[in-house]
Amino acid sequence: MPRRVTDSCIQCGACIAECPVSAITEGDTQSIIDPEVCIDCGACEAVCPVEAIVAE
Ligand code: SF4
Ligand code: SF4
Repeated sequence: MPRRVTDSCIQCGACIAECPVSAITEGDTQSIIDPEVCIDCGACEAVCPVEAIVAE
């Protein structure tokens, strides 16, 4: 299952820089992971400072 961003996101951008397949984009209120692109590597979850990224 792809990772998902919760509303705890503070839009720091760390996950966007870290994603190896560019699955994450900046949304209006939080970053968004495209589930069609995400390879579920976990890199974004590891760098998120507020633990806003969860495995579904
Ligand atoms: S789990 Fe990996 S591939 Fe999926 S959004 Fe996070 S960094 Fe990108
Ligand atoms: S690393 Fe966490 S807080 Fe920063 S933009 Fe990504 S999901 Fe949001």
